[in-house]
This record gives sequence, structure tokens and C-alpha cells, in this order.
Amino acid sequence: MTKGIFPYFAAGEIVKGFGRGSKDLGIPTANFPLNVVQNLPPNIETGIYYGFANVDNGPVHEMVMSIGWNPFFHNKEKSMETHILHDYNQDLYGCILKVCILGYIRPEKNFDSLDLLINAIKDDIQQAKKLCNLPSNKGYITSNFFKKGNSSDGGNSVI
Ligand code: ADP
Ligand code: MG
Repeated sequence: MTKGIFPYFAAGEIVKGFGRGSKDLGIPTANFPLNVVQNLPPNIETGIYYGFANVDNGPVHEMVMSIGWNPFFHNKEKSMETHILHDYNQDLYGCILKVCILGYIRPEKNFDSLDLLINAIKDDIQQAKKLCNLPSNKGYITSNFFKKGNSSDGGNSVI
């Protein structure tokens, strides 16, 4: 069950992903290293999540995150891939990504075409913007967690 674990905070260095070309689709995803993924509650459902994120303690933006199975580890380990709703115009490898996951949008799906996949992601992004702006959620944008000197190896205790 995924209920009861939000907000969930995680932080770690942005590492190279599997190079599935998401950047070419206009939806780059910053990947967390294995140790951050392994800190997730073991029963968390795979799928698309939303929340807030920042890079190197910078401005906080909305994000959508895919939690799925990582082909690099023969699909035995999960992956956490975050698309931040901000145009950085540069690579962020080696930077510190902090995320506050606020909730679940939908399960993982297979799509029949690239167009359908891109449309679904655009939909997820609209949903994420709406949900992040709910009164119960939008306060997390100013969470101390995102400020310099604060981090968390993963958990839902930081406010
Ligand atoms: P990889 O397979 O290495 O994760 P991607 O095609 O998914 O490659 O691109 C991800 C990289 O793009 C991130 O690691 C980061 O360095 C960069 N990037 C630039 N803008 C963003 C953004 N808005 N959200 C996430 N990553 C971004
Ligand atoms: Mg990626």
C-alpha cells in the first residue's frame, strides 16, 4: 500500500540513467542512485508520482516522478526518475536532487505509440501542477528540507 507515506522526502546525487532518450522527447528525467531507491518503503507501488524538487538547494519546482523497474539491475531494483517542471538548459549530473513526493497520479502503463506516451506525460504534468497547488500541498514548496544544510536519506519525518 502506498497510502500513508506522503510526504516522502529523498535526496541524492543525480546519476546517469539508462539513456532511454527521454531528453530527446523533451522530458529529461534525473535519476537517483541505487541507495536512494533502496530506502523507499519496500511496498511502494510503481507508477507516476508528483511533488516538488530542487537542484543544489536552488529554487523549488513542481515535478513528476516515475517509480519503475530498473533494466540496469535486471528489473530487480526499482528506479526513481524525476522530471522537474523547469527548463535548466544544461546537464545536472553530479548535482544534488531533493524531492518531496506528495502523492500518486497513476500506475505504469505500456503505450502503443510514442505520441500516446508523450500525451500521457503531458497529462501527468498538468495533473501535477494542479495537485501541487492544492492548499494541503503547496506549503511544501517552502519546506526547510529544500534549504542548504538540510537533507534526508529518505523518509517522511522532515517538514
Ligand atoms: P539519463 O538516462 O542519463 O537519465 P535523460 O535523457 O533522462 O538521461 O536526461 C536526464 C538528464 O537531463 C538529467 O540527469 C539532468 O542532468 C538533465 N536535465 C535537464 N533538465 C532537466 C529537468 N527539467 N528535469 C530532469 N532532468 C533534467
Ligand atoms: Mg533519466
